[in-house]
This record gives sequence, C-alpha cells and structure tokens, in this order.
Amino acid sequence: MDFYLNPENSQHRLIDEYKNYGSIVVAFDFDDTVYDYHKKGRIYNQVIDLLRKLKSLNCYLICWTGQEDVQFVSKYLTVNDIPFDSINENPPFHTSISRKVYSNAYLDDRAGLHQVYNELNYLTEKIKVK
Ligand SMILES: [Mg+2]
Repeated sequence: MDFYLNPENSQHRLIDEYKNYGSIVVAFDFDDTVYDYHKKGRIYNQVIDLLRKLKSLNCYLICWTGQEDVQFVSKYLTVNDIPFDSINENPPFHTSISRKVYSNAYLDDRAGLHQVYNELNYLTEKIKVK
C-alpha cells in the first residue's frame, strides 16, 4: 500500500508535526465545508467546532477558497465566529511564490473530509489530554 494511503501514517505525521512545532497549519475550504454555498440549509458545525479547537491549540488556519470575493469570506467568517489567520495566503513563517498554500492538512468537502476531520479531531483530543 502507498505509505499515506494508510491513515495511521498520516495521523502519526500530524501528531509528530504538532509536537515538533507546538502548532500545525490547517487549510480549510469555504464553500460546502464551512459555508452553505447552495443555501440548502446544510450545517457545518462539526468542522467549525474543530477549527475553534485547533485555534485554541495554537494552530494557524488558512481559509483556502475559490471564492473571488475575499471581503465576503472574511466578513462571513468573522460574523460567524469561525477563526482564520489568512485567506488564500501563506503563513508569514512560510514564504513561497507557489500558488498552493503550505499546510499540514486540508479540510475540504472535495478532498477526503471525513478522514482529515477525524485525524485532526483525534489530534485535538490527544493534545488536550497532555
Ligand atoms: Mg468546497
């Protein structure tokens, strides 16, 4: 099996990274991950709660979105108490001209959200206990 197809390996990597830096970078998608893009009354409270927990554990949160109206995104996140440190921008401690933002994990409804959610949630529980 490819190494990171095994969720145990990606889980351990995240915990090791958090232990090394006392923080990790987490990118999260906006549409249909924290925001009800299609206005169908869908709720995204578990991901939002996870982001709040990550923030309280000193994680750096990037909203990684295809939305063109960054002002709208910023306002929505602020009004709904969804923590973020940047929108589509690398952390100040990671400079790069690449268009892909640097992140240790990506929460995205189009990219294995279930697995990444579980890994990060497990991380918050494991760190909290310490
Ligand atoms: Mg999405």
